[in-house]
Amino acid sequence: MNLKSLEIWFLTGSQHLYGEATLKTVAAHSQAIVESLNHSPSVPVTIVYQPILTTPEEIQKVCAEANRRENCIGVIAWMHTFSPAKMWIGGLKILHKPMLHLHTQFNRDIPWSEIDMDFMNLNQSAHGDREFGFMVSRMRLNRKVVVGHWQDPEVLEEIHIWSRAAAAWHDWQGARFVRFGDNMRWVAVTEGDKVEAELKFGYSVNTHGVGDLVQEIGSVSEDMVDRLCKQYEEQYQISDSLRKGKSRHQSLRDAARIELGLERFLEAGKYKGFTDTFEDLHGLVQLPGIAAQRLMAKGYGFAAEGDWKTAALVRAMKVMATGLPGGNSFMEDYTYHFEPENSMVLGSHMLEICESIAMGQPSCEIHPLGIGGKADPVRLIFSAPAGPALNASMIDMGNRFRLLLNQVQAVSPQHELPKLPVARVLWKPLPDMKTGCAAWILAGGAHHTCFSQNLTAEHLQDFAEMAGIECVLIGKHTNLQHFKNELRWNEIYYQFYF
Ligand code: MN
Repeated sequence: MNLKSLEIWFLTGSQHLYGEATLKTVAAHSQAIVESLNHSPSVPVTIVYQPILTTPEEIQKVCAEANRRENCIGVIAWMHTFSPAKMWIGGLKILHKPMLHLHTQFNRDIPWSEIDMDFMNLNQSAHGDREFGFMVSRMRLNRKVVVGHWQDPEVLEEIHIWSRAAAAWHDWQGARFVRFGDNMRWVAVTEGDKVEAELKFGYSVNTHGVGDLVQEIGSVSEDMVDRLCKQYEEQYQISDSLRKGKSRHQSLRDAARIELGLERFLEAGKYKGFTDTFEDLHGLVQLPGIAAQRLMAKGYGFAAEGDWKTAALVRAMKVMATGLPGGNSFMEDYTYHFEPENSMVLGSHMLEICESIAMGQPSCEIHPLGIGGKADPVRLIFSAPAGPALNASMIDMGNRFRLLLNQVQAVSPQHELPKLPVARVLWKPLPDMKTGCAAWILAGGAHHTCFSQNLTAEHLQDFAEMAGIECVLIGKHTNLQHFKNELRWNEIYYQFYF
């Protein structure tokens, strides 16, 4: 995916009060800012200058066009001069693309010895943007407000983060996710309202009997299986028994065939992600292991046990992180290490962790699986590197979706794990193990998450604002009493507004 093909429209508000000469200067300033943003290596999308807006009709027209334009993923609004905000009502009422309000000023510094009323009248965003801000707040519209000079690296970074969130939001609109089989029997947190999700998030989730997938897998040619097995051998440290001519080679071929069939199914149905469940594998030789791992690495969303909310979130986070070093994967809080002063979580899954988060070259192995009653599945095994990371969980609270975030510190493997045949990550939740885990449980966070090495809480917070959903963060400042109160206050807020 190339984010540069996505456009963010730069809207500059003004009015006719100042005369043509001033408006020309406003336009020149606005163009200079757009050019500068497009030359900043940190802005991953294309910023598109739009002519200065001075009437309600122009504003409504540009908002309608932004809605219509397929590759326009959001707008940046800036009131260079005073743009009386009743002019914006019609446009803002219909705008349904994400908005960033850039509260900047063309001139960084006040020229103390030179400043006169002409300078003042050309540098009015200090009050012009307040007038605009009032209207957006009066209309209860979500937006991101970024404050500072347009060349300030922090300002660029905030625009960068927001534009990645907007790209993921755009990707969700009309996206299709497929579930093979239903939810894992009796599991609660992976359930949810798919109708509400489609209304709120724009993506659809539909099911296919696993037999439809089995048919696709059955039509994969031996040639294609040969080629993929060869690729496995080149790309991974492969167990000897899986090599051509060795005792378990047929299992590698079965795994490759599943991957190829799954990918064909996803391509044919234009799906951006999928879920499966070990309780419904009729006709599949193995539970998809390496297939799910590699398809995630290609950018598909995935989660196990029918967890479509996490599959969609994994996809969104992969789009958000396009081109950044590090990866994003489906994850599960698996096992705890409660050593005093060195407590941590071992994150993993039965098989399906994305190799984008791997440290070094994964090994490709085959081991028995205690559940599902199928043949031993082939899987990639690796550890993940140390560093700051993030766990994100999307849950359905009945009257709303809640996006729950926990900043964590991933730690390097401290021991060999010779008997653990799955990919894994070790991390320490912030602010500390006890507070982090207690807050997660109080908020109802799932055991399934998307684990990210390259996205920050701000990416996901911007994303939640676009979706208009609740977002709670567990991080270094989290205090349990305040956190409980935040959840209680949110409960009231979402009763009133949603
Ligand atoms: Mn699971």
